[in-house]
Amino acid sequence: MSGIENLDLQSIVADIHRDLTPRLGEGKVADYIPQLARVDPQSFGIAIVGVDGQVYKAGDAEVPFSIQSISKVFTLTLALGKHGENIWKRVGREPSGSAFNSIVQLEHEHGVPRNPFINAGAIAITDLVLAGHTPREAIGEIVRFIRYLADDEDIVIDHEVAKSEAATGYRNFALANFMRSFGKLDHPVELVLGTYFHQCALSMTCVQLAKAGLFLAASGTNPLSHHSVVTSQRARRINALMLTCGHYDGSGDFAYRVGLPGKSGVGGGILCVAPGKASVAVWSPGLNHNGNSLLGSRALEMLASRTGWSVFGA
Ligand code: GLN
Repeated sequence: MSGIENLDLQSIVADIHRDLTPRLGEGKVADYIPQLARVDPQSFGIAIVGVDGQVYKAGDAEVPFSIQSISKVFTLTLALGKHGENIWKRVGREPSGSAFNSIVQLEHEHGVPRNPFINAGAIAITDLVLAGHTPREAIGEIVRFIRYLADDEDIVIDHEVAKSEAATGYRNFALANFMRSFGKLDHPVELVLGTYFHQCALSMTCVQLAKAGLFLAASGTNPLSHHSVVTSQRARRINALMLTCGHYDGSGDFAYRVGLPGKSGVGGGILCVAPGKASVAVWSPGLNHNGNSLLGSRALEMLASRTGWSVFGA
């Protein structure tokens, strides 16, 4: 079975939640800022929004969490809308095979990050989103865009998270300074990172996140709000990048186990796209050694095997 008509998705999410309950708390919660360190490690949420608009959820699916690097999908979409294919002069489209915040590769490749989903690449994309704006305006534009995608005006930034990110973001400053030294950032480092830290600090629930990603499952148009976001070609291409680069140096393993485009964040969330079928968001704060949600990945592996949704075949 591969359609969504014949599947009892509510039972599937409830079963996944039940099956994983004994393991809640596994993995290591991010502790580089206090706001993430104090998140309950037992939290677990899952939400599926079908392209038919049906919502299926279990656990803490309505509890907001820090989306962190999942925001990189939305700023990439925004930057593509503003600058089109020109963005590929600033950032590549290849898996990095290194950690999300690695600096080594950046020196070898003269300040052009491997892809838009590692930190350096996302910082380069945020620099493009800043074009013609103050950081305050750019942050406003990012929030408005995500509210438009999810069709939900309640989505907000957690300013305490943004402040902590800035206070501890030495490595991101190093990456950005490096790119600026190669002439690969147009704006001052403080302004680019001020914007980047705020996008990472967006707080969303699994349901909101799955709705925001629904356009990627439905050829570029959100079938719930009828908001047309990107062309079908662009949706397909963003999905391709999520599949190959969305989990840092765990992207190959995620493709092997789950077989769907996905983007993870250090807050423990994963946005996953089943093209033509549904958008899925999971949240479990314990991370694996690549910084991806341990049980979130496991939940998606169970979902893919129980639905037959892998893009590589049922
Ligand atoms: N804000 C985090 C950082 O820049 C995001 C990283 C992530 O989610 N993997 O380090």
